[in-house]
Amino acid sequence: MKRETSYLFATDWQRELADNARNIMEKTFTPEKIAEWEAADGGAGCYPMEAHKIMVDAGYYAMSIPEEYGGLGLDAKTISIIHEEMARIEPGFTFSFNSNGSHFGYILQTSMPESEKRKWAESYLAGKTMGCFALTEPGAGSDAAAIKTTAVRDGDDWIINGTKCFITNAADYADHFCVAAWTDKTKRASQGITFFFVEKERGVKIGKHENKLGMKLSPTGEVIFEDVRVPNDHIIGKEGEGFGASMSHIQMWGKPNGSAIYLGLAQAAFDYALEYSQTRRQFGKRICDHQAVGFKLAEMQLRLHTARSFLYSTFDALEAGKAGREMTAGLKKYCSDVAFQNANDALQIFGGYGYMKDYPIEKLFRDSRIMPIFGGTNEIQLKNMAKAICGRDESRKG
Ligand SMILES: Cc1cc2nc3c(=O)[nH]c(=O)nc-3n(C[C@H](O)[C@H](O)[C@H](O)COP(=O)(O)OP(=O)(O)OC[C@H]3O[C@@H](n4cnc5c(N)ncnc54)[C@H](O)[C@@H]3O)c2cc1C
Repeated sequence: MKRETSYLFATDWQRELADNARNIMEKTFTPEKIAEWEAADGGAGCYPMEAHKIMVDAGYYAMSIPEEYGGLGLDAKTISIIHEEMARIEPGFTFSFNSNGSHFGYILQTSMPESEKRKWAESYLAGKTMGCFALTEPGAGSDAAAIKTTAVRDGDDWIINGTKCFITNAADYADHFCVAAWTDKTKRASQGITFFFVEKERGVKIGKHENKLGMKLSPTGEVIFEDVRVPNDHIIGKEGEGFGASMSHIQMWGKPNGSAIYLGLAQAAFDYALEYSQTRRQFGKRICDHQAVGFKLAEMQLRLHTARSFLYSTFDALEAGKAGREMTAGLKKYCSDVAFQNANDALQIFGGYGYMKDYPIEKLFRDSRIMPIFGGTNEIQLKNMAKAICGRDESRKG
């Protein structure tokens, strides 16, 4: 298939990097390989290490690691332009690859010795380090402050106990975990929850591997902490800042990064639908020449233009310190809705064939369904937007 993007928001250099990444992905993720990887572990799927290695060797892993640590030090917008193109080929893998490769920033926020930070950077750049961001628990999804995991101070260490669920990259290959735990239950979540950087060998266990509807190349599972001892210098940021500084960073930068992947899927759905509708003929003409189908394609492209403009202008606003929380919350909601809507419309355009596993839309549709749910559901994004827009009711203060 001929794949083109407008690249309206990219420089020639960014375009070259993104085109190259997509071309490598296209050769690696053949339909046969995708089927094989999705069928792994009794149909739960797997993160394909062979593909990981190919993308690492091509230089696309952990691209944000700063130059002083030997990395490329690429900015978030450039990385997103690349990930958008990668996600057009395989969104699940790209989601895990992005998440795996983006944790060095957490390590930098710890007060671990510089020599250790450098060792982690080296391991990242060799493609060996992969890990999880572990917040969600069985009783704490949207209501993240309801987590039960605790970290109790013991001399210079903390002892962590708790179970996290639905964690991306909770698999045997994960060697570290950024985990949220209560450090002071007498305080509110905004001052009582702390994030820790925890290495696997400290005794972290991986539990159930979830068997999901889609995104099967991005493993999701349980992470168990039973009396896991972590030194104080493994705190990410400051004690009691889990819901302040750390979450705010994720809200402002993590959401746009994820949105690029949603956009990649939305573009892929459009590409397939356009090509199919120009080939399939009914009532003596191409189905795209039936107005109902043509209008659907126009709506799909309109969503892509809008989402892409929103996404890349958000990066500019973030760089300029002008983006607010309502902007990144709205971006997550909008781009994930566009992914699902485009996948749904593409399936409709494919008719019965779209429902069959022999065609690529069935998988894109399955992969798209989680996007309005994870990373904070879209209802929660609207709630956060409304809160930011409306402000506090001053009359109810004090
Ligand atoms: C594939 C996958 C990967 C994931 N990866 C990670 C990860 O790496 N790390 C991690 O920490 N978590 C991860 N999660 C968890 C994810 O962030 C949560 O599933 C999500 O935040 C929703 O929580 P929940 O599933 O408990 O749903 P709930 O919070 O129980 O919500 C159920 C429904 O109620 C709605 N709802 C809840 N509260 C409100 C409200 N106040 N107003 C309006 N509507 C509301 C929700 O929008 C939703 O529709 C992942 C989940 C999945 C499925």
